[in-house]
Amino acid sequence: MHQRPNWIEVKDDGEWDFNWCDVGWLRENFDHAYMEEHVRINHFRNHYELTRKNLMVKNLKRFQKNLEKDMGRTEASKCDFFPSTYAMPSEYHLFVEEFNRNPGSTWIMKPVAKSQGKGIFLFRKLKDIIDWKKDRSRSEEQKDAAHLDSYVVQRYIENPYLINGRKFDLRVYVLVTSYVPLKVWLYRDGFARFSSSRFSLSTIDDKYMHLTNVSVQKTAPDYDPEKGCKWQMQQLRRYLTAKYGREVVETLFGDMDNIIIRSLQSVQKVIINDKHCFELYGYDILLDHNLKPWLIEVNASPSHAPSSQEDYEMKYGLLEDTLNVVDMEGRLTGQEKRVGGFDLMWNDGPVYTEDLNLQTFGSLSFTANTHLGCVNDREKNLRQLLKPFPLQKKI
Ligand code: ADP
Repeated sequence: MHQRPNWIEVKDDGEWDFNWCDVGWLRENFDHAYMEEHVRINHFRNHYELTRKNLMVKNLKRFQKNLEKDMGRTEASKCDFFPSTYAMPSEYHLFVEEFNRNPGSTWIMKPVAKSQGKGIFLFRKLKDIIDWKKDRSRSEEQKDAAHLDSYVVQRYIENPYLINGRKFDLRVYVLVTSYVPLKVWLYRDGFARFSSSRFSLSTIDDKYMHLTNVSVQKTAPDYDPEKGCKWQMQQLRRYLTAKYGREVVETLFGDMDNIIIRSLQSVQKVIINDKHCFELYGYDILLDHNLKPWLIEVNASPSHAPSSQEDYEMKYGLLEDTLNVVDMEGRLTGQEKRVGGFDLMWNDGPVYTEDLNLQTFGSLSFTANTHLGCVNDREKNLRQLLKPFPLQKKI
C-alpha cells in the first residue's frame, strides 16, 4: 500500500477510505461504521458462512438439495466435491450411522474455527472419540449453545494423489468483488503444499504425513527451509500435463473452477452483499489419485507470510493485483476480463475467453476464461491496461 502513489496510512482513529482488516476487527466494528460510497473493506460481514468448516458444509448440502429438487440428480451431482462431513456433537448420531456403514474407514476431526492444522486428529475406531465427546460435552455444559458445534468430523481422503510418495494440497486464490450479481476473479498463481514424510495409511498419528499445512510442515524435524515444501501451480500444471496430456489436465482444472463457482453460489443468498466489501479467499483443494479435486476448506484470511523469495514475489503480485481490481484509483473501465494475474471467471454467469470463434461457439464448446497455473505475465498486462497513476489525486 505504501508503494502506491498517494496512499497515506492513517492512525487508529483516523478517517479511512480503504481498510485491510482482520476478521476480529470486522466483528467488532463493522456494524457501527458509517461508510461513504467509495470506501472499501476486505471482508464481507458474514464471511464465516463460507469460511467456517461446519457452515460451509451446511450451505453446500442445502444448495445441493435445492439443485436436486429444481434441476435433478445429474445437476446436483456436480456438487459432489466435498467429503462427507458432520457437525459435532450435534450430528453425532448421523455420523455413527455412516461410520457403521463403512467399517475400517478413516475419519478426520477438525475444530471449525481454527486454522494451521491446530486441534486436528485422525481416527478409525469409535472408541477413540467417545472419550473425547464425553470430555467435550462436560466442559460445554457451562457454555452457551453457540459453541456446541465446534468440530466437524469428515471422511478422510485415503487415496490422495502423490508425487514422490508425498501428499499435497493446493492453495488457490479467488477474489469476489460482489455477491449480487456474483463477480469472481481467479488468480493465475497458487501453489501445492507437500508433506515432508512419505504418505502411508499404516500410521494415522503422524501429522507430518497427513496434514499439508505449511505451518505444520515447517516444524518437521527434517524440514529444509531452502527447499521448502511448495511447488508453484505452474510447475504442478506442467508436471501433470507431461504425464497425462493436456485434455486430462484441462478437465481437472475445469473441475476446480466448478468447485469455486458452486461453493460461492451456495452462499450467494446468505452472504450480506455490501458494495463496500470484497474478499480474497484462499481455497484449499486436495486431489485424489483419480485426479478428482476435493474441497477441503475456504480461508477468509489466507496467509500472506512468505516462505521464500519466490513465494514473496508471488504474494506481493497477488496483493498488488487485488488492489488493482478493487481499483480505488478509478483506473479501470469496469469491462476488463483480466487485471494483472486475475482473470474474471464469473460475471453473473460464466465468462469466456476472447478468442472464441464462431464455429466452436456454435457447437457450445467455448473456453472458460480461467488460466490457473498458466503463464502469469501480469506486468505486461498491467502496462497495457492501466494508465499511469494520476499524479495529484488524493486518496
Ligand atoms: P486448517 O484450517 O486447520 O488448516 P484444514 O481443513 O485445512 O484445517 O486441514 C488441514 C490439513 O489436513 C489439510 O491441508 C489437508 O492436508 C488435511 N486434510 C484436511 N481434511 C482432510 C480430508 N478430509 N482428507 C484428507 N486430508 C485432509
